[in-house]
Amino acid sequence: MQEFWLRVSLPVVFSALAALLLWGLFSAVAALSFMLLVLLLVMARNARQLYKLGEWLKEARIETIPEADGMWGEVFSKLYKMVKRHKQTKQKLATELLNIEQATAALPEGVVSLNEAHRIEWCNPLAELHFGLNAQRDIQQDITYLVRQPEFIEYLQAGDLGEPLVMMPARHDDMVLSIKLISYGGNKRLLISRDITQLERIETMRRDFVANVSHELRTPLTVVNGFVENLQDMHDLSHDKIQRALHLMAEQTRRMDHLVSDLLTLSRLESDQSPLRTEVVDIPALLGEVYHDGQLLSDGRHQHSLEMTGPARLSGNREELRSAFSNLVSNAVRYTPEGGTIKLRWFVRAGQPVFSVQDSGIGIEAEHIPRLTERFYRVDRSRSRETGGTGLGLAIVKHIALRHQARLEVVSEEGRGSTFLLVFPEKRVAV
Ligand code: ADP
Repeated sequence: MQEFWLRVSLPVVFSALAALLLWGLFSAVAALSFMLLVLLLVMARNARQLYKLGEWLKEARIETIPEADGMWGEVFSKLYKMVKRHKQTKQKLATELLNIEQATAALPEGVVSLNEAHRIEWCNPLAELHFGLNAQRDIQQDITYLVRQPEFIEYLQAGDLGEPLVMMPARHDDMVLSIKLISYGGNKRLLISRDITQLERIETMRRDFVANVSHELRTPLTVVNGFVENLQDMHDLSHDKIQRALHLMAEQTRRMDHLVSDLLTLSRLESDQSPLRTEVVDIPALLGEVYHDGQLLSDGRHQHSLEMTGPARLSGNREELRSAFSNLVSNAVRYTPEGGTIKLRWFVRAGQPVFSVQDSGIGIEAEHIPRLTERFYRVDRSRSRETGGTGLGLAIVKHIALRHQARLEVVSEEGRGSTFLLVFPEKRVAV
């Protein structure tokens, strides 16, 4: 402080001394005029620097900070350091903000920050997608005006931070969201949304599967149960009647046995614990067996043919390939009326080995084709049952195909027959 006043007063003191000298040498008027001139110069200089400072402050950028010497120079240099520090802090904060923004954008959940009046403070891109929001346009909007579903509004107003709400957003009717409120920073709240569509789908599939299996097992069990009760109640049954009942009971237990064994096959194929055991499969030998089994199943009712022009060796699992090929042949036999033809082919199409089974059977309406590989999906339930079908054959074929990176193609026309093709990748051809 003292130094400051010393430096400010020095020019005044020196000019006062010079003025005293002028007074002695000339006159008081000369001395006063000199003093006046010096003070005017000092004031003009200060005014000029103040003007520069004022101009600079209008658009304070570090590159344009004014230059000066003396005390003004020191002031500008301190200003320069301050602005530089401020700029560095600003940059650091901006980087941190960007990091936070990127982290929230990468979150696998939608996040909306709400104030106490349910107004949106910010939201991440996933929340924009889930609720149809626009992060720029909808800031400070009341979220209940934008998401108007009654259950959502009720959930927000109840402020129940325990149980999440499961809802379908109005803008995406095929999406299921799980929504949760979390309170933070006093009276603010975070709205977290999670897309559980896939989970719900799996849960529905699981429920349907259990219901289907129970239903499939219940029918033969009821039949067997009925016969057992009849046998218990009726004491004067003839040998023939007993034989007939036992025959029908055996048929039903065989059906249950098929179903359980198909279920076990499916579960083994789907399990991650059983990776594909690959070997080199002798295709002509395998197809010979499949062809022979098909003929036995037909029992002379169809005309069979086998054509082989494809590679003799394929890398894959023999048991699984046999199961897939046999399933397709068995379907062809079961869905082709007497007198029809069943054609097995092993050939190469666009470099890829293909196994195909073509029948002249009942065919399939186009609308059913995409769903054939679903478990228990049948076009004609009673026909499938009558012929000993479990509704799981094509699901098994699809899984085996997947494990071999192969593709199942179906070409069919109702009343004219079907062709099922298994297209293997070229890399599976073994030398
Ligand atoms: P299923 O045991 O009922 O035959 P699949 O999974 O093998 O079960 O087949 C599913 C459904 O696809 C069958 O119920 C049948 O309606 C249809 N389907 C399969 N193969 C043929 C075929 N070759 N011709 C006509 N329909 C077929």
